[in-house]
Amino acid sequence: MRNLILLGALLLAVAAPAHGQDKLKVVATFSILGNLTAEVGGEDVEVTSLVGPDADAHTYQPTPADVRTLASSKVLVSNGLGFEGWIDRLAEAAAFTGARIVASRNAPTQGHDPHCWQDVACARRYVANIGAGLAAADPANAAFYRKRASAYDVRLAALDSWVRSEIAKVPEDRRKAITGHNSFRYFAAAYGVQFQAPRGYSTDSSEPSARDMANLIRQVREQKIRALFIENMTNPVLVREIAEDASGVVGPRLYSDALSRPDGPAATYEELMRHNVGALVAGMQRN
Ligand SMILES: [Zn+2]
Repeated sequence: MRNLILLGALLLAVAAPAHGQDKLKVVATFSILGNLTAEVGGEDVEVTSLVGPDADAHTYQPTPADVRTLASSKVLVSNGLGFEGWIDRLAEAAAFTGARIVASRNAPTQGHDPHCWQDVACARRYVANIGAGLAAADPANAAFYRKRASAYDVRLAALDSWVRSEIAKVPEDRRKAITGHNSFRYFAAAYGVQFQAPRGYSTDSSEPSARDMANLIRQVREQKIRALFIENMTNPVLVREIAEDASGVVGPRLYSDALSRPDGPAATYEELMRHNVGALVAGMQRN
């Protein structure tokens, strides 16, 4: 009798693993997407980000370890819009047959510029896509994912309003900034800040010519732009040179394409946006 009860308990344990024990393995291509996915998936998912904190997804080279990680995962979340030029090669190498979620699907995108998450409205679309994608990949927990996605969406809506109210504190003619890598076009369009960058929006594009630099320095002087910023994953030398030549000030580092490390100021997407907006507003007000 005792053995039968034990056997029954064992069978039950096998048939219905405790909540959270059998986590859905999900791979996200970069740290920001990894955080959005973890927010939606909660304790039901185990998220691995391929491109980690402070690293550049544009120029990333997948490793054999990435191939193994993806091969043992059920879901792959990518940004799309050409951000991860290496993703199909990696999926093929891993013989990946799981579910694929392209976070930017149906987002209000600007051509092939991949940095859509810099507009919180776009990040909310990512979250909706991730919620629907996880629900489809793991139907047993669909209600859980939907609930978490909508709770997170409420927080992101509040974040969007906060960004608008912070930018509104800066007089309109001072809403200008210089960055090292043109990844703020979505932010610019959504929140009405003008960004200029000394090079194209891909970190692997070529260095600017001496003439481009001279033009930009003249522009910075003429327009009295005081807010110059370095991004966490790009070479700071260019922006420092411009700041020196145009007697501007280099502000705190902006987080554009990657989170900070967990002990840094942008360990989550929400912290990243709050940090960037705080730095931009302080820099643009300085005059
Ligand atoms: Zn970028």
